[in-house]
Amino acid sequence: MPIERKHCQCRDSQRHFLKRAFESMRIDPSEQEMLLAPFRETTVSIPLRLSDSGELRTFKGYRVQHNHARGPFKGGLRYHPSVSLGEVRALAQLMTWKTALVDIPFGGAKGGIAVDPGALSLPLLEQLTKRFVQKLSPVLGVHQDIPAPDVGTTPEVMAWILEEYSKNHGYTPAIVTGKPVELGGSEGRLEATGHGVAYLTARAADDLGFSLRESRVVIQGFGNVGSHAALGLAAAGARIIAISDVRGGVINDDGIDVNAAVAHIVETGWLEGLSETQPISNLELLQLPCDILIPAAMEATINCDNVDATQARLVVEAANIPVTHRADKVLRDSGTTILPDLLANAGGVLASYFEWVQNLQEFPWNRGTLLRRLERRLGQAYEAVRYRSLERGTDLRTAAYELAISRVQRAVKLRGF
Ligand code: NAD
Repeated sequence: MPIERKHCQCRDSQRHFLKRAFESMRIDPSEQEMLLAPFRETTVSIPLRLSDSGELRTFKGYRVQHNHARGPFKGGLRYHPSVSLGEVRALAQLMTWKTALVDIPFGGAKGGIAVDPGALSLPLLEQLTKRFVQKLSPVLGVHQDIPAPDVGTTPEVMAWILEEYSKNHGYTPAIVTGKPVELGGSEGRLEATGHGVAYLTARAADDLGFSLRESRVVIQGFGNVGSHAALGLAAAGARIIAISDVRGGVINDDGIDVNAAVAHIVETGWLEGLSETQPISNLELLQLPCDILIPAAMEATINCDNVDATQARLVVEAANIPVTHRADKVLRDSGTTILPDLLANAGGVLASYFEWVQNLQEFPWNRGTLLRRLERRLGQAYEAVRYRSLERGTDLRTAAYELAISRVQRAVKLRGF
């Protein structure tokens, strides 16, 4: 599916999910408008002379700060050719609901540059990032807006942001999260999102009355989130029967050796050719008989074209908006439980919050402490969502949105925005 159509479907789906929650909460249209409107949208131009050709290129950069009623704006920076104001606006809003749902003192933001980071040399990417920070500097701040990595940005990019910001403000590690550990990044941050996905999948399976030990699990996307989720689930006894990357998937009905898969990726870059597996396409993978399906790659992965063939009892949204609103309805009607992105992948922003706290306290924790606190906070959010869904007879996604919206709504009222 072309990337622009995907983004359109995502924005559409997010609107539908929110509408469902707004209607069930009976929030009037003028208040809905206020809750949805971004606080501030910054668009900047970043000229850069490409060193190899000498060509002058002007890149567009964005930072959308959606809502800060509950604390400083928080959200990633994305480097991808398709980055646009519309996409960033939708993702910024999602961050507001996510931080509210896991009850951390942040609002929501997102940003990025329309650039293919792979097409620039590292020194050029560093220049581009530092100029972007110079232009955003008036709207950033430890208690104002704290960026983090997203698609196409890495801990190294975060280190450049820290360096540029610190030039005018003194050494300020808390200005950005997802940094290298040597510069105040947190131990455990790298695996936090996947760890959280595995933890919540176990909780949900338990509540649905089946044990992970008897479960067949399929994971689309074996990057940071997918691989760490697979490692966690395999360690808990689940059978991971199929995994994939952008080139395609691999299957072994007796269970894939996940550690071997990680080692194979490190060695070759891809899953293709993993020993003791057979190749399978990404579409076939989505249609496999299994108990748990985890889309951990892209938006709109499960859509009208393929949802009828999916067979899982539980779908865990490790990626952001991987199920379109139409597919969501088909799945719910067929009795499939969906653990929504808002909750399922919130381990990432929770770990970011913990990193910020450690930076402010100038007192680092170890990996075990971070993951223990992560599980506790995710467990509390999961219980709150489940309780609300049972109490109000709604699906987990609507319950999650309702909880998040009500917290933001309350903070807005208290502050008198
Ligand atoms: P990643 O780049 O490390 O991994 C992505 C994986 O998906 C790779 O294996 C890639 O080959 C595969 N992939 C890409 N396009 C695909 C396609 N069309 N079909 C099948 N596979 C495809 O990214 P990540 O950090 O693991 O993030 C995965 C998803 O989780 C993204 O949607 C991201 O926004 C979301 N997310 C990530 C975090 C985090 O902390 N990393 C936090 C919250 C949400």
